[in-house]
Amino acid sequence: MRIDIVSIFPEYFAPLDVSLLGKARRRGVVDVRVHDLRDWTHDRHRTVDDTPYGGGPGMVMKPEPWGEALDAIVPPGTPAVPRLVVPTPSGRPFTQAQAVAFAAEPWLVFACGRYEGIDSRVVEEARQRMPVDEVGIGDYVLAGGEVAVLVIVEAVSRLLPGVLGNADSVTDDSFAPGAMETLVEGPVYTKPPVWRDRAVPEVLLSGDHGAIARWRRDQALRRTVVHRPELAAKIDPDTLDADDRRV
Ligand code: SAM
Repeated sequence: MRIDIVSIFPEYFAPLDVSLLGKARRRGVVDVRVHDLRDWTHDRHRTVDDTPYGGGPGMVMKPEPWGEALDAIVPPGTPAVPRLVVPTPSGRPFTQAQAVAFAAEPWLVFACGRYEGIDSRVVEEARQRMPVDEVGIGDYVLAGGEVAVLVIVEAVSRLLPGVLGNADSVTDDSFAPGAMETLVEGPVYTKPPVWRDRAVPEVLLSGDHGAIARWRRDQALRRTVVHRPELAAKIDPDTLDADDRRV
């Protein structure tokens, strides 16, 4: 997968060299290219923002550098087009299902906004030649899109074949498509079996895989009801068996 990121703070993306994603980059599984938006400005101050039309506080990112950046990364008329991802609190909520969909794309371009966001004509114009997703990572406002892009890139890249050591772990995760889609994962434990007088639940030491699977599902159901009641409300009753109903 190729990933291009445009930002006025390219240094924000140093963490992409660390851990699993760093390894995946070195192995060529993911090709990440970080660009400085100011490289597409032409004035002495490398200006990327201006005052908002209609008045109001804050500044808005100018369309010209963004237009030039996107033209340089995706030259008009080239047959292969990426999916453009624009993080914004006003976008559709980013979910695991969307991470799965993004992971199936060969090429993603991310546009990191700052200030009050990017002049809306940039997205409008980009939509004429590539699919565009405006996505929010939560109901709160960050200072810029960089952290949101780090979140999305990490969620997507760990789903790529060869990035995680054990591919099975993603299918058991909270929100994973399939049995976990409307569930969060229950508690997890490792050695020692007793720590500060607290014992690991006995069933996990039993070697009874059926009982362990049942216990994990019970815990996931309970935790979802307690921590994410709105998600629990989405569980299709037809997917519940008699033991689920007992929980
Ligand atoms: N005025 C905008 C609003 O109220 O919707 C907020 C702009 S915010 C200060 C600046 C930039 O941070 C946005 O353009 C976006 O790139 C990023 N950002 C902030 N919160 C975000 C969120 N929850 N999800 C995704 N991106 C976010």
